[in-house]
Amino acid sequence: MTDCGCDKARAELEEYFRNEICRTDAAEIRAHLETCEGCQSELHIGIVLTQTVQRACKETAPDELRDQLLARLRAVQLN
Ligand SMILES: [Zn+2]
Repeated sequence: MTDCGCDKARAELEEYFRNEICRTDAAEIRAHLETCEGCQSELHIGIVLTQTVQRACKETAPDELRDQLLARLRAVQLN
């Protein structure tokens, strides 16, 4: 496995979804995503899941549901 920055990008994807990381880190991750199809697909999955939850709840996802989605995202990352 080549070190293209995936570990850092994926570790921070969860925060990225919630826009809770600083702009510098977000720009770093965004730059990595532009060159990494693997992380792009994971980000897409995360965005879809987040938007699905937001549509369903029209507010922040309950902790339990959020945990389930994050667990699912992590399972995807293992593939
Ligand atoms: Zn990557």
